[in-house]
Amino acid sequence: MSKKLSLPAQVFIALILGIAVGLVCYFGGFASLTADFLKPFGDIFVNLLKFIVVPVVLLSMIDGILSMNDMRKVGSVGVKTVCYFLVTTAIACVIGLAFANIFKSAGLFPILDPESAEYEVKEFGGFMSTLVSIFPTNMWKSFTDANMLQVIVISLFFGGSILAAGEKAKLCRDFVSSAYSVIEKLMGFIISLAPIGVFTYMAWVVATQGSEILVSLLLVIVCAYLGYIVHAVLVYSASARIFAGMSPVKFFTGAFAAMIFAFTSTSSAATLPVSKECAAELGAEDDIAAFVLPLGSTINMDGTAIYQCVAAVFLASCANISLTITQMIIIVVTATLASIGTAGVSGAGMIMLAMVLEALGIPVAYIGLIVAVDRIFDMGRTCLNVTGDIACSVCVTKWEGKK
Ligand code: ASP
Repeated sequence: MSKKLSLPAQVFIALILGIAVGLVCYFGGFASLTADFLKPFGDIFVNLLKFIVVPVVLLSMIDGILSMNDMRKVGSVGVKTVCYFLVTTAIACVIGLAFANIFKSAGLFPILDPESAEYEVKEFGGFMSTLVSIFPTNMWKSFTDANMLQVIVISLFFGGSILAAGEKAKLCRDFVSSAYSVIEKLMGFIISLAPIGVFTYMAWVVATQGSEILVSLLLVIVCAYLGYIVHAVLVYSASARIFAGMSPVKFFTGAFAAMIFAFTSTSSAATLPVSKECAAELGAEDDIAAFVLPLGSTINMDGTAIYQCVAAVFLASCANISLTITQMIIIVVTATLASIGTAGVSGAGMIMLAMVLEALGIPVAYIGLIVAVDRIFDMGRTCLNVTGDIACSVCVTKWEGKK
């Protein structure tokens, strides 16, 4: 009897095939075919994920809260989760800064002319207005805009209120649990299409990323990826081992499908359904994962923080600005906040980089120097972001005294 390949194995094969086809198209001179005929299938897959992400976050968080059956437990899980996120993100900033400074001092960063930067500066309101905007004025608008922070707030309020209403809310409880079972089935179906998404996106990226700009920024990319790898190996291996008593190999094998999917889709939010499968595989408690993962895919961005630190130091060196220790501390604080404010969608971390640059007095338009290769940075940072969410769900499960 033929045995079906596991999802991680399918995703891995899709990745290798995607790279092979991408290289053939690149060297064969028909890269545009991948954009015209392969990428659209990846887009369909990501559209499907995006279309279920709001009901998944809403229902899985409310269902998680109802299963915990106690707002104190929700509070305890919430505090542990946020502490884990903040500490690991701050460590990520330190790692990012360390690598960036080593590369800069060794003269490995290219010096590009900032005047050549072309970037249309996008408005962003700063920290306080981000805080205010977390609270929705119109629930339906939060859903249609897929504003995940607002959806999380709505889930917390409704989950808490259903618990508080006790017996009278039985109908609502049953509705949430029944609707969530339906969404889980749908999610399972969409995830089974993940290899198609991975294959088509990978082929497109490999075939179309401009090689000239890639070569000139190669060392900056290498610097960021060293930061991502060291953070994963040090922080997630250590937390899996120390807090969850799990071997790092087991952890990374379990998280593999979500990591590859995040790498190719560059969206933590779109990867959420796959992360849920992986976290369950690794033994994270359902109600805890249902709470931690949506929150993590919205506010926990260690890869983004590393990227923002590396980019800030690199752009400062292009602008001939030597950063002082105080400015380094400013980078750690602003990159932590900026990564929290970054939405789990493709390219969002680059837009939030503006917050770090503004705090340092570097013109935001300099982002134009690295915009062309943002997808390459984004693949690694999203992969790390998602791995951090899964690591947190496993650790919090253990801290809450579950297996
Ligand atoms: N694409 C990243 C994510 O979804 C966010 C970013 O651009 O840094 O996690």
